[in-house]
Amino acid sequence: MNLPQVRGVDVDAQTRCGHYHGATDIIAIKMKCCGEYYACKDCHNELAGHAIVLWPVAEWDCAAILCGGCGAELTIREYMECESRCPACGAGFNPGCRKHYQFYFEVGAGLRE
Ligand SMILES: [Zn+2]
Ligand SMILES: [Zn+2]
Ligand SMILES: [Zn+2]
Repeated sequence: MNLPQVRGVDVDAQTRCGHYHGATDIIAIKMKCCGEYYACKDCHNELAGHAIVLWPVAEWDCAAILCGGCGAELTIREYMECESRCPACGAGFNPGCRKHYQFYFEVGAGLRE
């Protein structure tokens, strides 16, 4: 399996990192600011040297989520609608990531709980 390069602290083969390394912490997020995949926002904070730019709702159709289980790239919208399961390989994603959307995506205007 050939994943795109994922930056981060202690990133493993399924994109877990030193901050988030539970069984289901297998997604990486391409950052709007630099176009690079990072394992999580804390990895970006430690390594990128600049602030995260949130993905605006208008760009949620960009492929910016990487499944570390199979290498599929999901659009932000696909990811938000996948109910914490990869549509390509069926791997479970950490449902707790919902609480972190606001660190990556411009939520509020487009997403209603
Ligand atoms: Zn960045
Ligand atoms: Zn991290
Ligand atoms: Zn997958």
